[in-house]
Amino acid sequence: MGDTSFDLVIIGAGPGGYVAAAKAAELGMRVACVDKSHLGGTCLNVGCIPSKALLESSELYYKARKGLEHHGVGLGEVGLDLGAMMGRKTKIVQTMGKGIEALFKGHDVAYFAGTGKVVEAGKVSVDSTEVLEAENILLATGSSPVELADLPFDGERIISSTEALALKEVPDRLVVIGAGAIGLELGSVWARLGAEVLVVEFMDQILPGMDREMAGHLGRLLKRQGVECWTGASAQGAEIKGEQVELVVKMGDEERGEVCDRVLVAVGRRAHSAGLGLQELGMEMDERGQVLVDEKWRTSVEGIWAIGDLIPGPMLAHKAEVEGVAVVEQMMGRAGQVNYDAIPAVVYTHPELASVGLSESAAQEKEHQVKIGKYPFRANARAHCMDEIEGLVKIVADSRTDQLLGMQILGPQASHLIAEGVLALEFAASAEDVARTVHAHPALSEVVKEAAWTLCE
Ligand code: FAD
Repeated sequence: MGDTSFDLVIIGAGPGGYVAAAKAAELGMRVACVDKSHLGGTCLNVGCIPSKALLESSELYYKARKGLEHHGVGLGEVGLDLGAMMGRKTKIVQTMGKGIEALFKGHDVAYFAGTGKVVEAGKVSVDSTEVLEAENILLATGSSPVELADLPFDGERIISSTEALALKEVPDRLVVIGAGAIGLELGSVWARLGAEVLVVEFMDQILPGMDREMAGHLGRLLKRQGVECWTGASAQGAEIKGEQVELVVKMGDEERGEVCDRVLVAVGRRAHSAGLGLQELGMEMDERGQVLVDEKWRTSVEGIWAIGDLIPGPMLAHKAEVEGVAVVEQMMGRAGQVNYDAIPAVVYTHPELASVGLSESAAQEKEHQVKIGKYPFRANARAHCMDEIEGLVKIVADSRTDQLLGMQILGPQASHLIAEGVLALEFAASAEDVARTVHAHPALSEVVKEAAWTLCE
């Protein structure tokens, strides 16, 4: 039997858990990490990475189908080999999984494959057979898709994002319930590959919580790509009839029957707090089952810490990662911190929609005097060279101090471009700071600079 005594035992090897494990080892802790599934968690196996692999492949297929003659590039007949596309996705996931394995080996992190449960403070059981002891326990057990009572998952016709990442054939008609990032991304994948896609959203805009103007703009662009979005609509129930699903969708007082071959339910994710022994320990949780922590990620039970999707806040991999680093620093008596006001969020549609900080309406709600700078990609030479002229950059700044409050980017490579907004917020930059920063030419980032210039006198 190997060593069962550690300084830190982590339950969950997703981006929160594995990043925390490596950091803790770097800081000199003896670390064990327990996971019941695969290294890399939701993000690597059934989340961020497989979805982005399919988004890239499906985008290439879509572009090739539309034709590249205007570039002077002639293509033969464009075909789809879905098996090869899925195979490429799987290979990327496996390669990155091996990277985490190597990271654990290189950092002497002891990995235990099995289900972890806190039996008491300082003790974690693995598959109820082995008990690991540690001064500190870190819970990083993530989340899983929320099921709707009226539309229970059957894994075949009514599916979650996990199955939607691995369909063996392109649906003729896919109805997506929920116009959040996951629903729009996976809806886009299958629309590009040929499915007719309808997205049904309960709230009155797609991407609730994101800037209304930018979300509306994206909705119009998605419609052109064959992704129809109905807002203020809800699915009331479904009946599976052979290979078809008959769905009732309610919009206002009207009820409409929709027939499709798959329904993807993407209405959010629920924290994995059940079965961990937390109720027995009297741990404080909210009504959604998320574990409550203080500013140092300490739970209400001494020696137990929690991060990532398991705790309140945006369910994002990079949020889990930064918490993973900071919580370990806190355990070591260092000043680990996370700036929750500067966490970017990206929707990887085409074009991408990225945001950081406050939207226009959120800034107004916080009683800022707001000024708005906008600049379109259509006015940028590089965007024209790339054939990517849709979208704009929108900057929200305080009109008295010129301090940047937020940035939203709808456009090509917005996921990369938003890093400038994140850094600007992190350093409390003014719009003028951004405007006067030299940007390479010709580059998409010039649109950020120009949007900032519109705010300068
Ligand atoms: P997880 O990644 O969920 O990892 C938790 C791990 O804990 C899992 O491996 C699980 O097996 C393990 N576990 C749970 N309970 C136990 C137990 N009792 N014992 C042992 N192990 C246990 N986020 C982004 O930032 N960008 C994106 O582009 C993005 N795209 C996404 C696309 C999809 C389709 C989905 C579903 C999610 C996406 N996310 C994205 C969200 C992102 O995946 C999560 O926010 C992130 O994985 C959370 O990290 P975590 O470490 O908290 O938990």
